[in-house]
Amino acid sequence: MALDEYRKKRDFTKSPEPKGSAPGRRAPRKKKIAPLFFCVQKHLASHLHYDLRLEWKGVLMSWAVPKGPSLDPSVKRLAMHVEDHPKEYGTFEGVIPEGYGAGIVMLWDQGTWQPEVEDVDAALAKGDLKFTLDGYKLKGSWVLVRTRGYARQSTPREPHEAFGQSDGRSWLLIKHRDHWSGALDIGEFAPLSVKSGEDFPAILAADTPALWQTHRPVSTGETGAMLRHVIDQAAQLRAAAERARRRTRRGNT
Ligand code: MN
Repeated sequence: MALDEYRKKRDFTKSPEPKGSAPGRRAPRKKKIAPLFFCVQKHLASHLHYDLRLEWKGVLMSWAVPKGPSLDPSVKRLAMHVEDHPKEYGTFEGVIPEGYGAGIVMLWDQGTWQPEVEDVDAALAKGDLKFTLDGYKLKGSWVLVRTRGYARQSTPREPHEAFGQSDGRSWLLIKHRDHWSGALDIGEFAPLSVKSGEDFPAILAADTPALWQTHRPVSTGETGAMLRHVIDQAAQLRAAAERARRRTRRGNT
């Protein structure tokens, strides 16, 4: 047996080391669907939220998660089912200048997902999709469960999204207990882009920071303040980069 040698070398009446339990019987293998693309885009729009996207049948099924995914199995995060997105959108990072979703998109996580069920469409119809994630940040077993009736959470709403309505679009995103679950606040612990390694100000600075000098997509409340801060920081990053360029030019002549 696998632990024989480990156990032979130790006297567990004298050592605090764990003896280890006998290896469990393997669960019968289910027929598995090959891994598919998934991503989470952190989206500073009318409100900060995280868009979870799972590739399925050539498009990205999408859920907007206002508070972002939690690794704590006791925490259920509201996930609003939103419209499918094109597959190409899955690696997008940058600035949406105006209109729908106006704001900054960060590719917060990406990797593969695998259904833990044989029939994904049936699971979706039933409103209970169990799946495994293998991203840079999110891993292990998760479930998306459609809620019944009114979601009694006061949740930031995007103008186009009827948050909290009993329209079948409210789901809960829950982490299953496994080696990848825990109390770690993954949003705090790993806030940056997996594409650029950057935060919102640098993503904006790389694009068009002057964009919202006069008309910001959001100007009030917590999100307005957050966006104002990001715009100021982006302008400073641009100014510093410009000064460095000028110094280099002077150095060359
Ligand atoms: Mn979004």
